[in-house]
Amino acid sequence: HYHLEQATPEKALSALAVQQFDPAPIEAQSLQDYQAEGGYALWQACRTGQHSVDELIGVLEQSGLRGLGGAGFPTFKKWQFVRAEAGPRYCVINADEGEPGTFKDRYYLEHQPHRFLEGALVSSWAVEAEALYIYLRDEYPGIHRLLTSVIAELEAAGLVAPGYIHLRRGAGAYICGEESALIESLEGKPGKPRHRPPFVAQKGLFGRPTLVNNVETVYWIPSIVSQGAQSFAAHGRHGRSGLRSFSVSGRVNKPGVHLAPAGITLQELIDEYCGGLLPGHRLLAYLPGGASGGILPASKAHLPLDFDTLQAEGCFIGSAAVIVLSDQDDLQQVARNLMTFFRDESCGQCTPCRVGTDKMLSLISRQEWDVNQLQRLSQVMMDASICGLGQAAPNPVLGLLRDFQSELSAANIILRG
Ligand code: SF4
Repeated sequence: HYHLEQATPEKALSALAVQQFDPAPIEAQSLQDYQAEGGYALWQACRTGQHSVDELIGVLEQSGLRGLGGAGFPTFKKWQFVRAEAGPRYCVINADEGEPGTFKDRYYLEHQPHRFLEGALVSSWAVEAEALYIYLRDEYPGIHRLLTSVIAELEAAGLVAPGYIHLRRGAGAYICGEESALIESLEGKPGKPRHRPPFVAQKGLFGRPTLVNNVETVYWIPSIVSQGAQSFAAHGRHGRSGLRSFSVSGRVNKPGVHLAPAGITLQELIDEYCGGLLPGHRLLAYLPGGASGGILPASKAHLPLDFDTLQAEGCFIGSAAVIVLSDQDDLQQVARNLMTFFRDESCGQCTPCRVGTDKMLSLISRQEWDVNQLQRLSQVMMDASICGLGQAAPNPVLGLLRDFQSELSAANIILRG
């Protein structure tokens, strides 16, 4: 593709920029190294009948492993729901990591593709799936090359039947990370979320019961089973249990993927893992869960970052994409940026989201904000949108109205009503 487009200097430069943005992964663990540390032993034990599915479900239940793509649904329950449906079934791995600020799946895929694949194969085995599909976002071409060669390596080594794993390229749309839209896309259709019920566990890919798991969720399975549920569950702070991979970006000294105890607070995360704030910056706000998870003020930096615990604040942790904002950031610009993203990524099939995101963007672009109108519009979007995109889109604006009125006033925004 690059070669075809390199006919002009501009195109060549743009291709170079793409290559620099997505360098070939260089630190991927090899099959030999992974096997030397016991890799694929669990997969071999499963496929030769040395483990029962119920046994693994019990271990996952004790570990507290939850879906780490955003929804946080207990993994063992998802397996049970899919197994309760009559076969044939499919297994799909959601590798369409599109939430702004999230890059943890990329990290694990680039560094430990075998551990991820072993977890994916075990998940697929657990629901007796006819085939395993990996839906990988197309913005990760280096990982596509890596997984293509790694899957071929597994097939050649006899570790997986040829053609069992299907690696599919994403469609370049944020909404295709929503599981029913992802399945539509896998089926070759436009990625538009489905109405539920039926849930994908009942009627998913090609109308069959389908297990959809996130990359990081399955990544943890080999170590949880081989080292015991406590290897995962024993971690945690402030009454929470487990580990979370935080994708941290913004005004910190050490942005990146930080593996930290579930329930850690933002302040602890910044101080202990991120080397503090950048010099000269004062914490103003943070987004605990990418674009969708809302916005919180510095005064709430002591809240445990975990599923369920931020709901009282109208926020959620989602895929643990923490974006740190300082007094040098413009909150109106942040809100406009997020709403522009939602407007552009709305699939357009329902009016509250398609029209609501555009309307809200125009309302918050003014110097005078009509609070009643913004709140009424938010309520309609939350109540009547088909999927999480439209339901979550008002979160940042509602957060600003709730916790940042003095900052908005200082920025000369007039709140009316
Ligand atoms: Fe599409 Fe938005 Fe409706 Fe979701 S809420 S189905 S993204 S229009």
